[in-house]
Amino acid sequence: MPFASLPLIALDGPSGVGKSTTAKQIARELGWAYLDTGAMYRATALALLQAKTDLDDRPAVEKVLASLRIDQQGTRTILYGADVSEQIRTPEITRFVTPVSADARIREVLVDQQRVIGKRGNWVVDGRDIGTVVFPNACCKIFLTASPEARAKRRFLEQQAKGIGAAMTLEEVMADILRRDQADSTRAASPLRKAEDAVELDSSAMSFEEVVAWIVRHHRQHS
Ligand code: C5P
Repeated sequence: MPFASLPLIALDGPSGVGKSTTAKQIARELGWAYLDTGAMYRATALALLQAKTDLDDRPAVEKVLASLRIDQQGTRTILYGADVSEQIRTPEITRFVTPVSADARIREVLVDQQRVIGKRGNWVVDGRDIGTVVFPNACCKIFLTASPEARAKRRFLEQQAKGIGAAMTLEEVMADILRRDQADSTRAASPLRKAEDAVELDSSAMSFEEVVAWIVRHHRQHS
């Protein structure tokens, strides 16, 4: 990885903090492309489920990884040529993506693909390890946080608006967020953590528009 500063915004943070909606809007304002790495882990989880793969069966995992074909067309996620954007947001995938994203071999394959996509810059990339592992040379690293209560409320309203997980109560959304925080920050492979040179933005009391404006301003001032 070269040391030169890459024109790329790495937006990391815990589940439900609004990274993807924020990243999409920032990309729109800068005229940059947007990469949703969480969707790549989700699509991989779906591919493994479709192939009925047990994560302990390593040859079977390798077989899925060898043929894995994930594309992002705008904000849509395409797996083997089929649009799976809705399918990867189900509670089943949200549960299964945790062990999938803790698998070091799966991370290695997806990180390689992410580096190929973003290597020339002009991307806004959101995830958990973008500033620490995938693009440590990104010119702008943001670690976006919010209290678990604020995140659960936002995620609950978002899911209701989309009609996804309509059966989930606010308490269930909160429990899911806490479960994913715990799993993402304690796993051995690329745990969620703030890069030393990232700025932390606590968005608990900020509106979506304020968060976007803050990051765009920060980016323009520091690059
Ligand atoms: O961001 P999103 O919730 O869609 O991500 C799905 C899951 O993928 C997360 O719960 C996290 O465990 C994992 N993930 C990851 N590294 C990334 C992006 C997502 O481990 N860069």
